[in-house]
This record gives sequence, structure tokens and C-alpha cells, in this order.
Amino acid sequence: MATLNGTCGLITGVANKRSIAWAIAKALARDGARLALTYQGERLLDNVQELAAELDRPLLLPCDVTSDIQIAEVFQTIEREFGGLDFMLHGTAFAPREELSRPFVETSREGFRVALDVSAYSLIAMSRGAAPLMAARGGGAIVTLTYLGSDRVFPNYNVMGVAKAALEASVRYLADSLGPQNIRVNAISAGPIKTLAASGISGFGGILQVYRDRAPLRRNTELEEVGETGRFLLGPESSGITGEVLMVDSGYHVMGL
Ligand code: NAP
Repeated sequence: MATLNGTCGLITGVANKRSIAWAIAKALARDGARLALTYQGERLLDNVQELAAELDRPLLLPCDVTSDIQIAEVFQTIEREFGGLDFMLHGTAFAPREELSRPFVETSREGFRVALDVSAYSLIAMSRGAAPLMAARGGGAIVTLTYLGSDRVFPNYNVMGVAKAALEASVRYLADSLGPQNIRVNAISAGPIKTLAASGISGFGGILQVYRDRAPLRRNTELEEVGETGRFLLGPESSGITGEVLMVDSGYHVMGL
């Protein structure tokens, strides 16, 4: 059932085939959507090019989300090539590695600034760029990726937890800000999945094990499960949902112990 035939979307945060953003991109493409993928720098272009070969006429665009100039260029190109935008997946996050291993109280001013800029502010900047192109289509959908560390303390997640709290609050404020243009903004809070970004968190393997032991489903979250949820939140079936953080974590968040 190709419910997304004729739609166009932008995906940020594909680093390799294990990226959550790639799992969502595949689910959207299977449903008929045409996609633009961004990559942070030449270092990742080969990876993204190889993956993009699986897609139908993808656009590949450089975008470091800390650069307003690059963000503006992305949306100019999308307007020229697609003539509008139906959805956007924001899958970008970063904190300096040393911030994810030392005690939280040692968080540096610069580490805090970088983590919040790349992981939270970028959603606002990207949404501002996407909004006129979505409004031109009569509306759109935006989804970002978050983690329960926004709300609870996980070892070494540190400043990334603070960034995710800011990100989730931004989802709610953006939902209100863009709702009148029929643009929905939601987040998926995924359980831990072994990806490049996750490998920067000290003791990540231990967190995976705790989820396997204690989550109601007694297993870790699969990439495809987040992929399908992304497709749902970015597609027409979720038309009544905005400002929401949807948990896809084998139910771990409901447990008290
Ligand atoms: P990933 O494959 O490493 O994706 C993270 C992406 O962010 C990479 O493509 C990375 O590019 C990009 N990025 C970092 N700094 C950037 C910048 N300045 N400009 C543009 N892009 C930049 O890891 P992932 O786990 O799939 O992460 C995707 C999202 O899911 C993140 O928001 C993450 O916090 C969230 N999440 C992950 C988990 C998990 O357990 N894996 C759970 C819940 C939520 P580079 O590789 O070039 O830095």
C-alpha cells in the first residue's frame, strides 16, 4: 500500500545503515515517498551515496546543522527540485565524547553549548526552513528522535539528557507554533539501539542489557520498529497527533524498577 506516493520528504541524520534515520527513510521510501538525505560532511558522503542507491531519485545535500547558511541552501534546493515538502525527519544529535563519560557536574560550558545547539536548536532552525515549503502543500509533518534520558538519569548520558529535554520541550512549542499551518511536530523516544552515536556513550552495552532484563517485552528495540513508527508519524494516518513524544522502547518506561 503506497500511501506516500507523490510525497517528498527530507531526512537528516543518516550516517550508515544502522542509523535510526535510515530505518525511517527505508520505511517511507517503501511507501512511495521521494527523499532528500543530508550528510554532515565529505567524510560521510560515500556511506550516504551507497545507501541512497537503494532509493528512487534521491537528493543528497550537505548540511551541518550548526550552519544557518547550509540549512538555507538545503531548503532552497528542495524548493527548486521538489517544489515543496511534505515531511521532515530530524535525526541529528551530538555531544563531545568527554561529556559522555565524566561526572555530569564536570559538564563544560562549551560541551553544553555544542550539545544543545546540534541536538535541540537544530530542530527549530530546520523546522523554520521547512515550514514555508510545507505550508505551500497545505501542511506537513516533522518528527525528531529523543530518548528517556530527557526525563530520567542514565549513567553517562549526561548533557545529552539535558539536550533531549530541550528537544522535547521544543517539539511542544513548535507544535503550537506551526499547528495553524497544519504542520504537525512529534518525537519518537526510542529504546537503546546500537548505532554510531550510541557507541559514544560509555557503558551503553549495560543499558541494553537492563532493557532486555526489565522491559515488559524482555527484548531490545528493533530498528525496523522505530522505522515503522516514523513512517506512521510522518504519514497521513497520524493526522490528529501533534506535540507528542511516542515511546518505542519495548515498554521499558512504564516500569518502576
Ligand atoms: P547515528 O547513526 O550516529 O546518527 C546521528 C546523526 O547525527 C549522524 O548522521 C551524525 O552525523 C549526525 N550529526 C551529528 N552532528 C551533526 C551536525 N553538526 N550536523 C549534521 N548532522 C550531525 O545514531 P542514531 O542512534 O541513529 O541517532 C539518531 C538520533 O536518534 C539521535 O538524535 C539520537 O540521540 C537518537 N536516539 C538514539 C538512540 C539509540 O540508542 N541509538 C535512542 C534514542 C534516540 P556524523 O556521524 O557525521 O556526526
